[in-house]
Amino acid sequence: MALLRNLADLIRLNWHFCRFSERQIQRYHQRAVLRLLAMVRRKSPFYRELYAGREVRGLPDYRGLPTISKSLMMAHFDRLNTAGLKLDEVLRFALAKEMAHDYLGYYQNRYVVGLSSGTSGNKGIYVTDRRLTQRLPGVFLARGGIRLRDLPVRILFILRVFSQGFADINAPLIQLRYLPSMTESEKIIAVWNETRSNILMAPPSLLRQLLPYAGQINRPPRRIITYAEVLEPEEKSRISAAFRAPVVEIYQASEGQIASPCRCGSLHINEDLVYVELLAADGRTPVTQPGERVARMLVTNLVNTAQPLLRYEMNDIIELGGPCPCGSHFRVIGRIIGRNDDVLHIRTLAGGLRAVYPDLVSRWIITTDDRIREFSVEQDADDHLAITLDLGSLAEPGDGSAGDSAEDISNRLRRRFEQELAAFGVDCRLDIKLQPIVMPTDNRKMKRFRYQVPGVFPEPSSGQADQPT
Ligand SMILES: [Zn+2]
Repeated sequence: MALLRNLADLIRLNWHFCRFSERQIQRYHQRAVLRLLAMVRRKSPFYRELYAGREVRGLPDYRGLPTISKSLMMAHFDRLNTAGLKLDEVLRFALAKEMAHDYLGYYQNRYVVGLSSGTSGNKGIYVTDRRLTQRLPGVFLARGGIRLRDLPVRILFILRVFSQGFADINAPLIQLRYLPSMTESEKIIAVWNETRSNILMAPPSLLRQLLPYAGQINRPPRRIITYAEVLEPEEKSRISAAFRAPVVEIYQASEGQIASPCRCGSLHINEDLVYVELLAADGRTPVTQPGERVARMLVTNLVNTAQPLLRYEMNDIIELGGPCPCGSHFRVIGRIIGRNDDVLHIRTLAGGLRAVYPDLVSRWIITTDDRIREFSVEQDADDHLAITLDLGSLAEPGDGSAGDSAEDISNRLRRRFEQELAAFGVDCRLDIKLQPIVMPTDNRKMKRFRYQVPGVFPEPSSGQADQPT
C-alpha cells in the first residue's frame, strides 16, 4: 500500500510541476490556503484569535492577514498546534534524543519532532505527523534532486544530526545511510566505497572538507545534492569537477520544503507544498521580476496540519530567477543570498552604514584559495571585521607542502578584501587569524557570520535549517 501511495504521490507531484499553468498554480494556492484557514479556525485557538473578524475569500484577503515569526510560533506553541501537544513535553523528548544522539523514533508513536536552533540561538520545534513523513519517499523522488534514472539509489547522507523524518525517506529503491558531519573524511570515503553508494548528500562546507579526498572514491557519485547552507556557484563547479559528478542544491527548511532543482538545475519553488509570498523592501509589494531581490519571504506550509505555519516570516534573502527552459511554471529562485542576520553593515566613508551581502563575502574568501577549508567572519564594530581561516594541515607549522604558505594566503585575502570593500566606499579594519574551526556537533548550525555590534542589527527570527518537515 505504502509503495502505491508513494508512486501516486510521485506521479501527482510530477504532474503539478510539469503541467500546471500559472493560473492553475494560483487556483491551487487559493484552494489550499482556504482549506488550511478553515482547518486552523476550527482546530487552532491561536489562529482563531489571530484571524478573528477577518473575512478571507481569496488570496488577496489572505495576503492581508497578520504574519507570524519563529518566536511567536514558539511562544504560542501549545495553542497553535492542532494535535494538543505541549511544548514542555515535546521539548523534553527532543532534548533527550539530542543528548543520547538517538534521533530515531516518533513522539507519542505518531509525530516526528525536529529541533532546530536556527542560527540565532532560539530553539525551534517542528512537529510533523508520521502519516505525512511516511509519504516522504514519493516527495523525495519527485523533489529531492535525484532523477528517476538514478534508481535504485544508495544515498550517503551527511548532516550534524539525524531525525526520524530522514529515516522515513527509506523505501524500496531508496536506501539512505547516515553519517554525522563530525566523521573523519577518510572514514566517509571508506563508507562510500564499502556501501557502493551512488548519491552523496551533504552540506557544501562538508563537501569542501572532502575535496582533498575526492580522488580516493572508487566510483563517482551519480549526483551530489547539497542543502542546509548556501552553495556558491564557484564552489559548485569546484565540487563537481573534483567528484566528477553533477551538483544540485535543494532548499529545505524546518518550515517546509521550499524549493527543488529541475533537470536544468534551476531551483524551483515547490508551489504545491508551500505557498511562498515574495515581497520587496517595503514589506508589501510582491516581487515578480527576474533578478529582483526579495526582502521579505513569507511561507505557508500547505501540507503540515499538525503544526500549521501560515504566513510565517523566513529570514532568508533570495533573488527571483527568470523562466526556466524545463518549461515548468513553478517560480525559479535565481540565487539564495543568505540570511538577513548574515548581512554585514559596514561604516561608509560618508559616515552611514552600507549593507554587504554574505554571498559576496563568502565568494571573496572561498575563491582566494582552494585550501581554505572553513571560515568565519565576525563583525565586532561597524568598522572592524575579524576573519578566521581554517587551512587544514597547511596551517600547522612545519607543513612542507608546496605552493603558497598560510601567510601568503592570508595576505592575498587581505588584499582582496581591501580592494572589494574599497569599491563599496566603506571604511573597515581587518584582522585575519589562521586557526582550526570546530564544527558544532549538536543541532546548532555552523554560523559563519557573527555580529557583536549591539543595536545595529535586526533581531533574527527564523531561517533555512536542516530538519525535515
Ligand atoms: Zn526548470
